[in-house]
Amino acid sequence: MAQGQIVPDPVRCVQCGICSYNCPIGIDVRRHAWQGRPVQHSQCLTCGECVARCPRGVLCLERTNLFSEAAQCPAIS
Ligand code: SF4
Ligand code: SF4
Repeated sequence: MAQGQIVPDPVRCVQCGICSYNCPIGIDVRRHAWQGRPVQHSQCLTCGECVARCPRGVLCLERTNLFSEAAQCPAIS
């Protein structure tokens, strides 16, 4: 089970699709970013690859593990 979620800041996204292209299980991260919705996908590995690849710093991995720090992502207004 995923222990986090990818949180996008849609204002910064340029819809390049690099995130989706590099997701090892083929989640359409770009679509989530465009819609401003966190990636809450049961198969997400929370590997952070999409976060690392995004050239615009749109994505953030927010841990939901009870034993980790509280949310690290900036609040998106
Ligand atoms: S890589 Fe970043 S800028 Fe490109 S579509 Fe994905 S979230 Fe948007
Ligand atoms: S964290 Fe990994 S598995 Fe989850 S959406 Fe990003 S690239 Fe895909």
